[in-house]
Amino acid sequence: MTLEGAKVECVCEVMPYSGGLQRNIVQCLEDFDIPLYLSCTVIEVHGTDRVTGVTIADVDEKMLPIPGTERYIECDTVLLSVGLIPENELSNQIGLEMDPITRGPKVNEMRETSHKGVFACGNVLQVHDLVDFVTQESQIAGKGAAQYIKGTTEPEYVTCKGINGVRYTVPQRINKNNPEEVKIYFRVANVYKDKRVVVTCNGKELWNRKKLKLAPGEMENVFIKPEDLATMNAGDEIVVSIEEA
Ligand SMILES: Cc1cc2nc3c(=O)[nH]c(=O)nc-3n(C[C@H](O)[C@H](O)[C@H](O)COP(=O)(O)OP(=O)(O)OC[C@H]3O[C@@H](n4cnc5c(N)ncnc54)[C@H](O)[C@@H]3O)c2cc1C
Repeated sequence: MTLEGAKVECVCEVMPYSGGLQRNIVQCLEDFDIPLYLSCTVIEVHGTDRVTGVTIADVDEKMLPIPGTERYIECDTVLLSVGLIPENELSNQIGLEMDPITRGPKVNEMRETSHKGVFACGNVLQVHDLVDFVTQESQIAGKGAAQYIKGTTEPEYVTCKGINGVRYTVPQRINKNNPEEVKIYFRVANVYKDKRVVVTCNGKELWNRKKLKLAPGEMENVFIKPEDLATMNAGDEIVVSIEEA
């Protein structure tokens, strides 16, 4: 908008943190001196035939406007960007089992959905912030589709889930007989500083890494080694969690 000649007055974000990449906050807002107001929302849009201004206000922890914090901003345009979800019309139409958190289909480690031979990747599967991850995911799905065509043995699944601040994992299930390292992607529910990401199965710690910062806008990943997978039983649960460092 700025590059096209508009004067951007501000960006209001209702959450106490931004869901965007830090890189984008710096390069798209700070570099152009555009204020980012956190815990803030538009409570009224003014104008009859067209917008003449908005009233914004700070919000409390329940996201309700705090009386007395209202400010009027004169403007002629309001852009709404109120959450991304995967493109899921086709997935719903063919009745794929969906993940209520990602809002995309549930998949195994090769990105095969609940329908055999139907694979999902990219923004159909989960909202991606970086196209690099989309590329990696498409390569996995392509490999999975090729294996499916060649004929595969019946999988024995372990499931994956996130707890303690990990909102979701993709994939949601992994064939324990997969001969290669499996990357589990996840997002956190809040901003965390100086924590550890821990992966366990049956109480045994499989992986852990210290993280200086974790934020909802940044997709994270952990690895599961094939030798660890091989020790698991079908039906076991791999758990990804945020723990004290
Ligand atoms: C606003 C925004 C900004 C981004 N900025 C960056 C960035 O700066 N850097 C970065 O690395 N990543 C960025 N990303 C992330 C990255 O661009 C996306 O994750 C990536 O483009 C997703 O690739 P995709 O192939 O899954 O989906 P898309 O690129 O969305 O491609 C899907 C295509 O399928 C078409 N389609 C939809 N339905 C049908 C249908 N029924 N039949 C046929 N075609 C259909 C769509 O029209 C679309 O062309 C951004 C994403 C968004 C939303």
